[in-house]
Amino acid sequence: MSRIFSFFLFVLALAAEPADFIWSARYVITMDAQRHVIENGAVAIKGDRILAVGTKADIDARFQAKQRLDRPDAILAPGLINTHTHAAMSLFRGIADDLKLQDWLEKFIFPAEAKNVTADFVRWGTRLGCLEMLLGGTTTFTDMYYFEDVVAEAAKEAGMRGVLGETIIGFPVADNKTPADALAFTERYLKFTERYLKRFQNDPLITAAVAPHALYTNSDETLKAARALANKYNAPLVIHLSETKKENNDEMAKRHTTPTKTLDNLGVWNGRSVAAHAVWVNEADLAILKSRHVGLAHCPSSNMKLASGVAPVTRMLALDLPVGLGPDGPAGSNNDFNMFEEMDLAAKLQKVTTMNPQALPATSALEMATIRGARALGMEKEIGSLENGKRADLITVRIDRAHAQPLYDAVSQMVYALKASDVRDVMVNGRPVVRDAKILTLNEAQILAKAAEYRARVSASLK
Ligand SMILES: [Zn+2]
Repeated sequence: MSRIFSFFLFVLALAAEPADFIWSARYVITMDAQRHVIENGAVAIKGDRILAVGTKADIDARFQAKQRLDRPDAILAPGLINTHTHAAMSLFRGIADDLKLQDWLEKFIFPAEAKNVTADFVRWGTRLGCLEMLLGGTTTFTDMYYFEDVVAEAAKEAGMRGVLGETIIGFPVADNKTPADALAFTERYLKFTERYLKRFQNDPLITAAVAPHALYTNSDETLKAARALANKYNAPLVIHLSETKKENNDEMAKRHTTPTKTLDNLGVWNGRSVAAHAVWVNEADLAILKSRHVGLAHCPSSNMKLASGVAPVTRMLALDLPVGLGPDGPAGSNNDFNMFEEMDLAAKLQKVTTMNPQALPATSALEMATIRGARALGMEKEIGSLENGKRADLITVRIDRAHAQPLYDAVSQMVYALKASDVRDVMVNGRPVVRDAKILTLNEAQILAKAAEYRARVSASLK
């Protein structure tokens, strides 16, 4: 009898389709169109793609994997998508807290950047950022900073997906003392950006973006040139938008239009765009953003910490705008890259400010961190859910700790109870990058030693 059974298994194995990996877990949160959550589920992966998602029994019967990972005490979910951040600023973590955006930028960040930001600083800062993000379940990040080609190299080394834009800023700060310097600086960066775009075209992990810092830090000509450049390479344009009330007031005083309207008049939204913050946007602005298919990055931690205001996210969701989540900067506007915290805060911030506990439910918060975030980046066909044919970006999150039990609803647990430190395994583009909460791609000890070294150097530079 047992011989017959063994033969049966042998035949089954022959019939099974080959896969590189099978990952199984107690719950699989797919974030597919029907938002299926599969109990005792599994995902089969081949190359950089997901082959199939189903019950563990079904996947095991259909596929024969080279390697498998079974996590009966975990949730398996799509990798989290960070739609706005500045990774290398992690080396300035906590340098100055509890300040207004303008004071924080002008008194601390710009001087610290002028004295410290080099390619080496950006390389180690991005490594530190990617280390934290991957260990916390983020598989894609959207970045704007300096030396962005170095950011791209560090992201590739980490095995992380990135939408990365070199900051274009025409502001007399850092190394630019006069408007003439600033113009030359802007032109240098536009040219640099073009080289950088070409270098990373068709890279499976890197989406090169064009990143004018904001309306108020760039000339109209630079903004138009940035849009033209983005469209020439079919690259997304990423920008800060209406982060503070001051930004809106200044634009109203200058041109009697909102920043969203001004950027529309300049043609900046005529192509793939991602706007971060969008705190001070009115109904007319939201209509423009919707008609131009602008992706939005909501940054609740940053908006709360800098007292920037509350973005009308409930309205954005009612209009079905593609709005994702971002931790923004680690230097003082957050101070970490914790997407679990962003989900939790996004939900609670809308509830308390609208006095409606249903304003942003757990499912919507998880959508923003996954499939809606993917839409914000224009990448929803590739990432953001666990579905056949999509890129294999997935995470397991342990549910065997006190704060995770008992579990009635896996989605609620993800948003309101689980922590970034509960993430156990991470795969990006079919490659395991975190295994049992240990990074596989980066040298953690070396990165932490460098962070301490930079802390001493930055502190000395500010004396
Ligand atoms: Zn930002």
